[in-house]
Amino acid sequence: MEILIINYHYVNNKEFRLGGIYPIKPSVLEKQIQNIKKKYTFISASELETLDIDGKYCLLTFDDGLADHYNYVLPILHREKIPAMFFVNTLQYTKKNNYILPVHKWHLLRAFIPKEEQDLSFQIAINNLGINKIEVEDSKVRSQYRYDNIETARQKYITNFLLTTEQNDSITNYLFNRYADTIDFDNFYMSSQQLKELAEYNFLGLHGHSHIPLSSISEQKLNFEVKLNRDILKDITGKELKYISYPYGGKTSISDNVINYCKKNKIKLGFTMFRNLNSPLMKNKLLLGRFDVTDIFKGEKFINE
Ligand SMILES: [Zn+2]
Repeated sequence: MEILIINYHYVNNKEFRLGGIYPIKPSVLEKQIQNIKKKYTFISASELETLDIDGKYCLLTFDDGLADHYNYVLPILHREKIPAMFFVNTLQYTKKNNYILPVHKWHLLRAFIPKEEQDLSFQIAINNLGINKIEVEDSKVRSQYRYDNIETARQKYITNFLLTTEQNDSITNYLFNRYADTIDFDNFYMSSQQLKELAEYNFLGLHGHSHIPLSSISEQKLNFEVKLNRDILKDITGKELKYISYPYGGKTSISDNVINYCKKNKIKLGFTMFRNLNSPLMKNKLLLGRFDVTDIFKGEKFINE
């Protein structure tokens, strides 16, 4: 038995001249599905939970609760009659005025602000916080971000892993206000109604309340991040969700504490970004391996070959 799990983020037809956001075009996703179909049987997460017949299976997953997923991915899934999982955060549903999580604010900043300005603004913002020099090992950076150039990867690691949520909010808000006229986005996340619909199909899962690495926080904060995520999604959908995709998902963002917490709280499947296929034994279904779409298809190019 072989279970391939693939993860996607942005799926849309936009072009981002500066990078930062690398969407898969819906037409490309459709071609990928056709290619995968030749070798694999698509399964849902609940089928994965109880799988016992030998074969080659594939589960598609989509992280971060982006509106793209409802607008572009769901129609394709319906047309192809295949299941998938969508893992969502919830902090944005407790805020007003199109709140964007810091991790996504960074994506937008990188997509709309020229690189030189980004680097300079980042330095200014870091200095403003009184943090002049943050040392970080390249190997740690690379274990999490393998496709970015090293400068960008380092910035991502610092903001997502080393700064507190408050520091991160302070930097992203500063930059976001400064470049508000340049940054273009609308309806970034799925609506509550759309989440409800996904939950009806059993396609909905947890991704932490505010998209912070769960390994680096106290037991109390871990409980807050997962329980609140679960409670809010239960309020919205009426369902108790039991599958989680760990935010960031790399080795540095998951710890024994996190796994034990999930076990204790009856979370049945945990999706990492450890790049491996899942085997028949699957001793630990809280440590499922996943490939990023870029690992598998090298973007659009693979499809054209
Ligand atoms: Zn995520």
